Amino acid sequence: MVLNGPMSQESVIEHLCPLCGSDTFAPYRGRPAGRCAGCGAHERARLLGLVIKRALPEPTGAPVIHFAPEQAITNLLQARYGLAYQAADFTPESYAWLSVRKIDLSDPHAYLEPESVQGLVHSHVLEHVPADLTRVIQCMNAAIQPGGFHLFCVPFFTRFYREDLNELPLQVREEMYGQFDHVRSFGTEDFEHRVLSLFKDFERADIPVSADDLSQAAVPLQAVRKLTSHSAFLFRKRTAAAPTAS
Ligand SMILES: [Zn+2]
Repeated sequence: MVLNGPMSQESVIEHLCPLCGSDTFAPYRGRPAGRCAGCGAHERARLLGLVIKRALPEPTGAPVIHFAPEQAITNLLQARYGLAYQAADFTPESYAWLSVRKIDLSDPHAYLEPESVQGLVHSHVLEHVPADLTRVIQCMNAAIQPGGFHLFCVPFFTRFYREDLNELPLQVREEMYGQFDHVRSFGTEDFEHRVLSLFKDFERADIPVSADDLSQAAVPLQAVRKLTSHSAFLFRKRTAAAPTAS
């Protein structure tokens, strides 16, 4: 239950952040527990935290690349994958607290060798990448080794996918795509066709959380029942089938 104190900005609530252990949350954009007061994590980061703890495979030593790193997720992935963890961003200089590798996802092939990484993690990144989305996702997936994983979140602003890679006034972008620097919006009606169908060599994994887990982490139940901007998608790349004896 969320207890909103009318006198205070922050509310003391019966929740626990799975990333930092804080039990104090603050409102964010009209959502009473939208932001963890301890680490700043929003709902999607808190859900990712549960998924990382419970569903990601053991380290193989190959890189696990985290795009647009959020500090609390970085801490968790570093604890799990050690030196194999790599942070990456289009503008690495904007991170004072972390060593970040430059990767431009509009051309993943230039940065990621095929089958060279164990996993990719990103949250609300793909709506920023000014390139053909199908090619971007296919190139990212090609970089993952068999047995590896791709864990991500995207925002949904519309029922149907739309994008515009041309110059547009910032205000138009905000109205069309939810934020001034977004080039696309994912649609709840055609996400399967536009995005999930690109994971041909993968199996979609369950998000292993119960209603109680979500409630404790102050993540809406809709995050696992519907397509929402808090939802997490986890895919595991199939390993090659053993050759049949002849
Ligand atoms: Zn937290």
